[in-house]
Amino acid sequence: MGKKEIDDRFKKFGTVSFTAMSKVNDFIDYLEEGKVMATRCTHCGQSFFPPRADCCGCLTSDMQWFEVNGRPGKLMTHSLMKFGPVGFEDDLPYSIAVVDFGEFKVFGRLAPELSEEEVQAGMEVEVKANQLPNGQLNYVFVKKD
Ligand SMILES: [Zn+2]
Repeated sequence: MGKKEIDDRFKKFGTVSFTAMSKVNDFIDYLEEGKVMATRCTHCGQSFFPPRADCCGCLTSDMQWFEVNGRPGKLMTHSLMKFGPVGFEDDLPYSIAVVDFGEFKVFGRLAPELSEEEVQAGMEVEVKANQLPNGQLNYVFVKKD
């Protein structure tokens, strides 16, 4: 009997990864290439970020990947975190934010180099693949230039 291969690429995501196994593990490979990707249902056109392998609209699994980085998004709200859950202590303080990309909204972190003073609701931002000091991957929002 061969050893069962477990696809656990998703454990590389986030400061502390909560999902080691996922049907959308290609997301991690794309992050390593510097791409932040979402999925779109080829049947109904609905898009998903974080990417999903199955469409909740028409229950198919015919999804296509597309790039989110580079698109302009609008910062809707943000909040500076001074206390974090276990495992996030070394990252503090950091700002979490919600960005509206039109087709979908994305929850994530603001890039640490953005100062509180320059961050304003309504400003144009884009999402960027990011490597954390501990080697883990995530994505952050940066000012759109
Ligand atoms: Zn669909």
